[in-house]
Amino acid sequence: MNAPSTRVFHRQLRHGLPVAVSGKGITLTDAQGKVYLDASGGAAVSCLGHGHPDVVAAMHAQIDRLAYAHTSFFTTEVAEELADVLIESAPAGMTHAYFVSGGSEAVEAALKMARQYFVEIGQPQRRHFIARRQSYHGNTLGALAVGGNAWRREQFKPLLIDVTHVSPCYEYRDRRADETPEQYGQRLVAELEETIARLGADSVMAFVAETVGGATAGVLTPVPGYFKGVRELCDRHGILLILDEVMCGMGRTGTLHACEQEGVVPDLLTIAKGLGGGYQPIGAVLAQGRVVEAFRKGSGLFQHGHTYLGHAVACAAALAVQRVIQRDGLLQQVRERGDHLQRLLTQAFGSHPHVGDIRGRGLFWGIELVRERTSKQWFDPVHKLHASIKSKAMAGGVLVYPMGGTVDGRCGDHVLLAPPFISTEAELAQIVERLASAIDLAVAQADEALTA
Ligand code: PLP
Repeated sequence: MNAPSTRVFHRQLRHGLPVAVSGKGITLTDAQGKVYLDASGGAAVSCLGHGHPDVVAAMHAQIDRLAYAHTSFFTTEVAEELADVLIESAPAGMTHAYFVSGGSEAVEAALKMARQYFVEIGQPQRRHFIARRQSYHGNTLGALAVGGNAWRREQFKPLLIDVTHVSPCYEYRDRRADETPEQYGQRLVAELEETIARLGADSVMAFVAETVGGATAGVLTPVPGYFKGVRELCDRHGILLILDEVMCGMGRTGTLHACEQEGVVPDLLTIAKGLGGGYQPIGAVLAQGRVVEAFRKGSGLFQHGHTYLGHAVACAAALAVQRVIQRDGLLQQVRERGDHLQRLLTQAFGSHPHVGDIRGRGLFWGIELVRERTSKQWFDPVHKLHASIKSKAMAGGVLVYPMGGTVDGRCGDHVLLAPPFISTEAELAQIVERLASAIDLAVAQADEALTA
């Protein structure tokens, strides 16, 4: 555990943390020699696991050549090469990659790109963003403002730009019994349409959404047709569609971009996490040609920037990660191992009295915990079931990513799994086994607290 006298301003100030000292494959080891299976890649980051020799070698080679050159003076070969790789595999019409250092920065850049785009094309009256409740887009002020998690926003509300939030696509809780998934999706599209009309269609800049909802809602997969309806609506009103694939993108769901499975192409696409796989902090906004062209023809610059944009070592790490994924056919592997993980989760939790929903795609899965399955009643938040599962799972040697507030930002609990793409079937089985005992122990503790 870290010393009580730590000088690091940790996320949690009341309890210590184990000290991570090494990582190899899908495991992390702490200073006591305890080995953990990394079943969530941190927060869906470590797609190639830890210590991948090809990525480490590429970073060493880049550091030996050039670690850093400021992007207002230079471009670098490695940034150009990474942009080429990303654009060659990007959704249709994307022509440029804007590099940043993480997910929140990618979202901030996308929001500002959207605003400046409308200024450039002579529609400066467009000033509204529409996003979804229960979404997560990052913790910087712009990203937090578009994010829809009530608890995260609450104390910072006075600082946040005004964003209108519509319903998430949360089939497990919100689809009515008399609706097909498609009808439910169309109801959500109609809600968005009404919201656009209420705000005034020509005053809306963009609709912002995670293609597959991640951290705060526990892997919400969209129903068929939903995003097609959204895309059509945005097109009709000249509104940009910003898809945030910081968590669900870069292969996590079994295709390089999650939006491929929805048959839609966004105007701006944010990526991070799996882009560099945790080897370096890096994110990017992939932009449609017509957006970039508006900047080129207009002011000729994007009025934005950070010191570490397009950092050469970060670009080298991301380039190596993406090359390994391509070379080793890992997208196919994500689909196959993902099917296997789904089977394991269904076996372990399909009739578990406290698991209401198992949802996901590829190697991106969420399990929603309930007090009672039929009513879908959640555990009283006082139990902090998610935190209890996390600590029991860690004690049992598996790292998972649970979160509370699944239902409305305050109530409900889920566990998110995002194992590395290189996980074997045997490792996935161990992960599910350890998770199952952590859940049972945490539920037993919550029950004891009730009867005490
Ligand atoms: N967008 C989404 C969808 C995310 O899941 C996250 C992080 O979890 C972010 C943005 C913010 O990314 P970062 O934590 O790298 O700033």
